[in-house]
Amino acid sequence: MTANVIDGKAVAQASQAQTAKRVAEFVAAYGFAPGLATILIGEDPASEVYVRNKRKAAAAAGLADFHEHLPATATQDEVEALIDRLNAEPRVAGILLQLPVPGGLDRTRLIERIAPGKDVDGLTTLNQGRLARGVQGLRPCTPSGIIELLDFSGVSIEGSFAVVVGRSELVGHPVAELLLQRNATIAIAHSRTRDLAALTAQADILIAAAGVPEFIGAEHVKRGAAVIDVGIHRTDKGLTGDVRFGEVAEVAGWITPVPGGVGPMTIAALLSNTIAAAEVAAAGSAS
Ligand code: NAP
Repeated sequence: MTANVIDGKAVAQASQAQTAKRVAEFVAAYGFAPGLATILIGEDPASEVYVRNKRKAAAAAGLADFHEHLPATATQDEVEALIDRLNAEPRVAGILLQLPVPGGLDRTRLIERIAPGKDVDGLTTLNQGRLARGVQGLRPCTPSGIIELLDFSGVSIEGSFAVVVGRSELVGHPVAELLLQRNATIAIAHSRTRDLAALTAQADILIAAAGVPEFIGAEHVKRGAAVIDVGIHRTDKGLTGDVRFGEVAEVAGWITPVPGGVGPMTIAALLSNTIAAAEVAAAGSAS
């Protein structure tokens, strides 16, 4: 293996330690712990694990826990009423609606209901517009975590050619935007892209976020490139990503493992968004 394996767990731990320090300073200044509200609807086992991990990490950083678990039969009105209540609760700094939500619910309307200042997933139209404009706002967690991993590893973003495979509103699109703002030249590939390997093989930075198990192989990767594997898939062999780790590690310069790469960074970015939201809200109410 030639690639440097980027240890997302270690980078996430360092980031969470920073957040914990900011939370302690916040408590000392304002006399209460800012909270993260997690909303889980239904009984999806994977979502339950994700929410449990987020709550555990938030508690370890000193954030207050405002968890809400609604049944899969919850109506649109009921979920919106809950979001309104959390929007109005001053001790709640951030609100996370765990996705996907059950079929009968309008996910877009629910996301838009979250107060933009508490939208710690960075998914409201206002925060996405702020991202597109490059002005201050809450950024989506996984994309922010990816940038932090690249920075930590000393991968040079400015002037590089970065290819993002995937154009979702959660990952592909916003990470491309963040890379562009850091002066990378970007290309976004998707399911209709012709000759994907010819494109990705030119990338200095390759972000694999297609959600297709192990479909990026050595033929897609330029020698020495930084390969960030966002995919996460439960298979008979355990967890795997979008990248065939063994063969890509032979050509890449840097690579993230699954698990232990991007996943922990998503949680770290969520916590750092929550304390940032708390600080902005407290500064606003003090002025
Ligand atoms: P998504 O909404 O399903 O989007 C997938 C994107 O990949 C789409 O834009 C799709 O193109 C594109 N795509 C699909 N097949 C492709 C192919 N064969 N070639 C090129 N592009 C292809 O998924 P997502 O929410 O962005 O998530 C992507 C993956 O990351 C999933 O495995 C998810 O579980 C994982 N994830 C991990 C974390 C973490 O913390 N580690 C966080 C979020 C997501 P079209 O637009 O043309 O359909």
